[in-house]
Amino acid sequence: MTNPLDKIKPRVRGLKAYTLKPDRGAVKLNQNENPWGVPDAVRAETLRRMEGRQWARYPDFVPAALHEKLAAFAGWRADGVVAGNGSNELIQATLMVTVGEGSRVLISEPTFALYRQVATVLGGEVLSVPLDDALGFDVAALAEAIERDEPDVVILCSPNNPTGCCIEEDELERLLKRTGGIVVVDEAYFEFSGRTVAPLLERHANLAVFRTFSKAMGLAALRVGYLLAAPELAREIGKAVLPYNLNLISQTVAEVAVELYESELRPQVARIVAERERLYAGLQTIEGLAAVRSEANFMVVRSRIRPRLVFEELLRRDILIRDVSGYPLLRDYFRVSVGTPRENDLLLSALREIFA
Ligand code: PMP
Repeated sequence: MTNPLDKIKPRVRGLKAYTLKPDRGAVKLNQNENPWGVPDAVRAETLRRMEGRQWARYPDFVPAALHEKLAAFAGWRADGVVAGNGSNELIQATLMVTVGEGSRVLISEPTFALYRQVATVLGGEVLSVPLDDALGFDVAALAEAIERDEPDVVILCSPNNPTGCCIEEDELERLLKRTGGIVVVDEAYFEFSGRTVAPLLERHANLAVFRTFSKAMGLAALRVGYLLAAPELAREIGKAVLPYNLNLISQTVAEVAVELYESELRPQVARIVAERERLYAGLQTIEGLAAVRSEANFMVVRSRIRPRLVFEELLRRDILIRDVSGYPLLRDYFRVSVGTPRENDLLLSALREIFA
C-alpha cells in the first residue's frame, strides 16, 4: 500500500508545525495582545450594529466600506487597501502570488516564524540575514544580500517580533531602491512605536505594509488585518484572498474600532507604552536579567537562568510568558508582553523571587 503522506511535498514533511502550546496563566503575557481588552464603547456599538444586520446573507464580497475607513485611517487610498482574516491571511496571500518553486524570500531573523513557514510550504527558498549584535536590523548585510541573491520578496517586521527593533525610513528606502523584488513591512505593532513607513507607499510601487487589529486594537479573537500597497499590487494580492474572507462581525467591529480609535484606543496605547518603559526599568533592577529596549508592546530579556526554567517558574505562579530561546540568537532570552500595571507588578515581583 502506498503511503498518502508520500504525496505531501518533501519540504513540507521536513517542516516543524508552527504551533503554540495551550498553556494557561491568569496573567497572560505570551502573545502581545492588548491587556485592557476591547473598550466597552467598541463592543457595545458593534453589537448594536449587528442587531440591524442580515445574518443569513453573505457579507460583502469585498468589504468596501471597511477599506474606505482603513484608507482614511492610514492616510492611503482605498483601492490600495485589502482587509484580511487576520494579517496572517495577507502574509499567506502575498506569498501565494509571489512565491513558487525556486523563488527566494529574504527575511531577517529572529522574527515572526510564519514568514519562513509559509514561504517554505510554497516552495520558496528562505534566505536569512541575522539581526546585528544589538538585536537591530543589519541594513548593510540586508543590502548586500539583496544585491547578491536578488530575492523575489523581502519581508521585514517593524517593530520586529520578538526583539522590538524598527527599521529606519531612510534605510528601508535604500533597500526599496536596490531590490527588484517586493518588500513587505509587517507593522503589526506600529501603534506602539508611533511610526510607520506608509508614507513611502507614494514613491514605491514594490512596497506592501501589513497591519493587524490583533494587538493595539484589542481584537485578536475577531481576526482582522489589512495591507496597504499600490493599487496595482493590492489588486494582484487580492486574487489570492478568498471571497467573504471577513465575516460580518469582523467587518463591523473593525469599522467601529477605526471610528473610535482616537477616543477609545489611542489612550490605551499610550498607557501600554508608558507601562513598557516602567517594566523595562523594573527589569533592569533585577540582577541576572537584561531587558532589550523595544518599540512594541513586548520585549525580550536576557536571562542568567535558563529561559525554559524561568518560563516554568513563572507558570507555577500563574504567569504565562514566551520562551523564545529556540529562536536564532536568542538562546538566553525570554519574551514578555506588556500587561496592565498590576500584571507587570506581579511579573516583576515573581522574577525578583526567582532571581533572588
Ligand atoms: N505579524 C506579526 C509580527 C505578529 O506578531 C502577528 C501575531 N503574532 C501577526 C502578524 C498575526 O496577526 P493576525 O492576528 O492579524 O493574524
